[in-house]
This record gives sequence, C-alpha cells and structure tokens, in this order.
Amino acid sequence: MVINFGAGPAKLPEEVLIEVQRDLLNHGQSGISVMEMSHRSKEYADIHSKALQAVRDILNVPDNYKVLFMQGGGTGIFSAICMNLMKTGTADYCVTGTWSTLAAKEAAKYGKVNMVFPKPEKFTTIPDQSSWKLDPNASYVYYCDNETVNGVEFPFIPDTKGVPLVVDMSSNMLSRPFDITKFGLIFGGAQKNIGPAGITVVIVREDLIGNAMPTTPTILDFKVTCANNSLYNTPPTFIIYVMGLVFEWIKRKGGLDAMHENAITKSKLIYQSIKNSNGFYTCPVDVRYRSRMNVPFRAGSASGDESVESEFLKGAEKLGMVQLKGHRSVGGIRASLYNAVSVEDAIVLANYMNEFYNSHKSK
Ligand SMILES: *Cc1c(COP(=O)(O)O)cnc(C)c1O
Repeated sequence: MVINFGAGPAKLPEEVLIEVQRDLLNHGQSGISVMEMSHRSKEYADIHSKALQAVRDILNVPDNYKVLFMQGGGTGIFSAICMNLMKTGTADYCVTGTWSTLAAKEAAKYGKVNMVFPKPEKFTTIPDQSSWKLDPNASYVYYCDNETVNGVEFPFIPDTKGVPLVVDMSSNMLSRPFDITKFGLIFGGAQKNIGPAGITVVIVREDLIGNAMPTTPTILDFKVTCANNSLYNTPPTFIIYVMGLVFEWIKRKGGLDAMHENAITKSKLIYQSIKNSNGFYTCPVDVRYRSRMNVPFRAGSASGDESVESEFLKGAEKLGMVQLKGHRSVGGIRASLYNAVSVEDAIVLANYMNEFYNSHKSK
C-alpha cells in the first residue's frame, strides 16, 4: 500500500477514484465517458451545476457571492485579480511565502503594489497585525492563507478596515469552515485539496464583478465567466466532474468541521514527532503559524543533513510513503496532509519518524 504525502497534485480520496474508474467508460445512461461529452449537453450541464452548487453548500456561500470555475491555475488568478479588481491602480500585498511573493510580483505589472510589511528574510512567521501598514486607497488587500512551500498558515482573518480582502486558499480551501462575508474574493487551485489539476475555484462578491481593465483577456474577465455560468468556452469537463465527486465525498465525511478536526489531529501528530526528537527533526516555522496542511521539516541537524534526509526519504518510500521530498527551493522534507490523507496515514508517518529518530540517536 502506498501513502501519498505529495504537495500537489496530491492524493485524492480512494472512494472517488474507484467511482471514476467504475463510470469511466459509461457515465449514467449515456453510454459514453464524461470525457467524451459535449460541454453543452444536458448530461454535462447537470454535472457542472451540481459541482457549482456543492461549493455553495459546503462553504455556506451567501447569495451575493458568485462561484466561478476558471482555468490558468492559481497563477492565472494572480493576474485575473489585478485585471478585475485594481480599480484605484494600487493594491496591498501581505507577503508571507513563495506564493504570495509570486502574486505580488505579478500585480506589479498592473499597478502599484504596497507591501503591507517588509518582506521577511525567511518565510517562517507572520508579522503582528499591529505593525501592518495598510493603504486606505488600496483596491484590495491580498494574502495567502496557507503557504504551501513554507508551511505558514494564517490562524486569523486579517482586518482590512473595509477594503476588500482577497485570499489565496489553493492549499487549504475546504479544510476548515470560515466566514465568507469577511472576503471580497477567495480562490484556490484544485490540485492540492480539491481535485485533479486543471481548474481554479473562485468565489467573488457580486459588487466586485464588472470592473475589468479593457485589455483583460475575455477568458479572465469575471463578468464574462459569471454571465456564462463558467461555460464561456470549453471548461476541463472531466476535472470538474471529478471535483464534484470530491465535494460529495466531503459531504459524506461530515463536511468542513470533520475536515478541520482531522487536519488538526494529523498535523499535531507530525509536529509532536518533531518536538519529541530533541532537535533531530526541526521545523523552522513559528509555532503560532504552523500549517495544518503542509509540514516542512529538516532531519539530522537544525539546518538539515542531506545524507540523513535522503536516507529518511528512501526508508519512507520502502514503507510506501511517497512524495515526501521538500520543495526544491527549501529542501528537506515536507509532509502534506490534505483532506484525502487519513489520520491513520499520518499515524504511519509519525511512527516512522519516531523509529527513524530512535535508530539514529543510538548510533
Ligand atoms: C500551488 C499553488 C499556487 C499555484 O497554482 P498553479 O495551479 O500551479 O498555478 C498558488 N498558490 C498556492 C498557495 C499554491 O499552493
């Protein structure tokens, strides 16, 4: 048996994959695969609208917010946000890791970017809100709720004094309940916690739609996507179908409260193994902002001993634990604990970490 701790594209619930496999050649009464269906067919329309509605149900999305399915990945939405929302020509960016760095860089192409706090040298913490410098003229305040590479997650929703709040939830959307009304826009690429790669879920407040810059590509214009029910052009129909099955799976498993509870249990297990190792394992992230989704850590010494880490990864793989290698920019090890990773999976990893530590301590 293999346990997939990959950061993305990541593990999908086995139940969903089995369902996909069962219906791969013949969906419903159609006699054909979802992959082969017209995106304008009645059969696909049903899959499409059910998936959109499931997002509303699971996240309790109020009526004055639209749910959109868009392409171009999370990265595409970095640009779309600027082109659709940067009415005043300036925006606030909170940079806490690799992904918000890239989003801010993209935004600088379209207008003035105000860094809410100086870029930290290492992405291991979130500066205290009392030190933030928000620009009252900003079109929006942007932040990344969970920095997938660095393992930094917000335990709070920033207060922006009425300026629309925009959040990247690519790696933790659907992992906990939250109050949508605090936000102007929420987005997340599917391939971490929601489904296969190829779609980005965008939830946007109605009044923020309809202000796109004239040069905005039609396909990135929220108004066009919204007016066409996310069917302006051919969407990745198969991906949306699989994502819809994941949504049903989340509902069956108890919704976001259950996902949140599991995320806490799983991440605590891994952080506990790190803590119990007397410095053999180290996680550089400030304990207050440690991610429930992605746990980056080093092994062998505080800055990481690459030969020990490589041995760790090889040993893990022998036991069926795959995709544990840290992001190429930070090295080390990273355990991603998305919804489809079970508490039992996390226990297997935590036990392995403890055993690996014990066998190295006695050497
Ligand atoms: C993966 C990721 C992205 C980028 O997603 P792409 O679909 O590869 O463009 C953006 N933000 C976060 C937080 C991510 O984890």
